Amino acid sequence: MEILLYILIFIIFFLIIFLIIRSLSEVSDARSDVDKKKIIHENNKEEFPETLNNKHYVIENTLDEFLDQILIINKFKEIVFLNKQAVLRFGENFEGKHLASLLRAPEILESFDRCLDTNEKQVVEVEIKNPIYQFFSATIFPHPVNNNLIIIVLRDLTEIAKVQKLKSDFVANASHELRTPLQSIKLGLETISQGHAKNDFEAQKKFITIMLDQAQRMENLIRDLLSLSKIELEEHIRPNKDIDLKDIIDHVIQTQNQALNKNQISINFDCKKDARKIVGDRDKLIEIFSNLLENSIKYSEKGKNIHISSKKKNGLILVSVKDSGVGIPKELIPRVTERFFRVDPEKSKKVGGTGLGLAIVKHLVLQHRGELNILSEEGKGSEFIVSFPSQ
Ligand code: ADP
Repeated sequence: MEILLYILIFIIFFLIIFLIIRSLSEVSDARSDVDKKKIIHENNKEEFPETLNNKHYVIENTLDEFLDQILIINKFKEIVFLNKQAVLRFGENFEGKHLASLLRAPEILESFDRCLDTNEKQVVEVEIKNPIYQFFSATIFPHPVNNNLIIIVLRDLTEIAKVQKLKSDFVANASHELRTPLQSIKLGLETISQGHAKNDFEAQKKFITIMLDQAQRMENLIRDLLSLSKIELEEHIRPNKDIDLKDIIDHVIQTQNQALNKNQISINFDCKKDARKIVGDRDKLIEIFSNLLENSIKYSEKGKNIHISSKKKNGLILVSVKDSGVGIPKELIPRVTERFFRVDPEKSKKVGGTGLGLAIVKHLVLQHRGELNILSEEGKGSEFIVSFPSQ
C-alpha cells in the first residue's frame, strides 16, 4: 500500500514537471511569432552584444521605413538582416543564407571584400541586362556600431536609367530627322551655285522645288517637336472648359476640305445628341482630331471614304475616326504612338509626315483623362477610337 502511494506521488510529480515544460515552450513559441526579429538577434549574440541588442532592434525597425533595400551582413558573408524593401525584392527566408545566394553581381561581392579588408565605404553601380533590365547602385560600408558587420544599401535606379535612355534616343532621332532635309537643302544650294545647275534654269527650278519641300518638312518637324514638349510640360493639368464636340469636328473637317477634295474623299459624320458635351480644351481637341483625320486622308487611296462618329457608351463618350486605307500590320499597332515610329517611313515622308502625330494625339488624349484605342487590319483600314469621360 505504501509503495503504491509512493508510485502515485512520483507520477503526479512527473505530470506537474511535464505540464510546466509544455507551458514554457508554448510561451516561447508565442514569443517567437510576435517578436521574430528579437529572436534573430539573440541567435546572433556574437554579432550583437547583449547591451546593444535593444538598440539594434530599434535601428533595424527604423531601417524598415527606408525606400532603399538594406542588408546587414556578417564577416562570414551571412545575411543577418534584410529591411522590408529588401524582403519585398528578394523574398523571405534569406536570413542566415550566404550573400552570394541573394546577389550574384561580381562587382558587389568584390566591393564587399574590399570593404572588409579596408574598413572603407565602397560605392558601385551595377547593370543587369537579363532576364530583365535592372540598374542599381550599391553602397557598402562598415556597421557604425559593430565592426563584425557590413551594411549594403541598394538603390534601384532602373526607372531613372530608362528615362535617360529614352531622352538620349529622342535627341538622337530628332537630330537625325532634322539633318536629312538640311543635307538635301545644302546639296541643292551647292548644285545651283557651283554644280551642273549653275547655268541651267530648268534644273534650278527642279532643285528649288525639292528644297522648298525639305524646308517644309523641317518646319513641320520643328512645329511637332515644340508641340510635344509643350504638351509634356502641361500633361498633369486637366483641361476644364465645356466643349461641344460637334463644333470641333465640323471645324476640323472644314479645315481639311482642300485635301479631301484633292483625294476625292468624302466624310460621313454622325454625332449622337447625348455625345456632344465633354470637358476639355478647344485647341487641343482640334489638334487631336486634325491629326487623326489628316492620317486617315494620308493613308487612304483616292476615292475611299472616311466615317467619323460620336456616341455614348458605359458612361464614356467614344469618338471614332475610321478609314478604309492601307491599314497597319497587327504586330505594329502598339508601336505607332511611339515617337518617330512609322510603318512605312518612305510613304510617311512622301505625304509630309513627321512620325510624331500619334505621339502628340496620345499625350493630348491622356491630358483629357481619356484613352486612345486603335483597331486596324492591313489592306482593309484603321479605326482610331478616342474615349473621353462624359460630363
Ligand atoms: P506620320 O507623321 O508618319 O503620319 P504619325 O505619328 O501620325 O506619324 O503616325 C505614325 C505611323 O502610323 C504612320 O507613319 C503610319 O505608318 C501609321 N498610321 C497612322 N495613321 C494611320 C492610318 N490612318 N492608316 C494607316 N496607317 C496609319
